[in-house]
Amino acid sequence: MDAIFIPQLTKAPERTEEIQVKDFLPGLETLTPVRGVILVQHHGNYLEVSGQAEAIITCTCNRCLQQYNQRLAIDTKEVIWLDATANQSQDLPLEREVAVEDLLESLPPDGYFYPSEWLYEQMCLAMPQRQLCDRNCPGILNRSADSSSENSVDKRWASLEALKKQLPG
Ligand SMILES: [Zn+2]
Repeated sequence: MDAIFIPQLTKAPERTEEIQVKDFLPGLETLTPVRGVILVQHHGNYLEVSGQAEAIITCTCNRCLQQYNQRLAIDTKEVIWLDATANQSQDLPLEREVAVEDLLESLPPDGYFYPSEWLYEQMCLAMPQRQLCDRNCPGILNRSADSSSENSVDKRWASLEALKKQLPG
């Protein structure tokens, strides 16, 4: 996925760039390539970025630690302000009050928009915080207690029985 030079967008048909995605994203572990589409539209003082994409990811269940595959999908729209001071905020005094605008995404109007980075962020945000292979997953403790402790109890009883038989009655 190529970076988009933002001023170039104003010359594109309908000031819109459409990016077909069928890639593995750097830093994002997916079983299948991320497939989808990103639309970037120039609105003068802001970009409107929308994307639909999906991939299969491998999760590790928080309860039983088993791995399972899950579909990860996004369908999102974001406004990115074009602000000439976008990359200079670190030069400003720290004690300055944080304005609401600063909490929004912004880019310099003569800069680049990186579709793969944007998509990477959106996919990361969509990652399930709590990963469960099944809503009713009994978890690792219950499962091992059920199977192994029963067996070991049986064995212990069995050897005790065998010992009893050896004792002179
Ligand atoms: Zn599980």
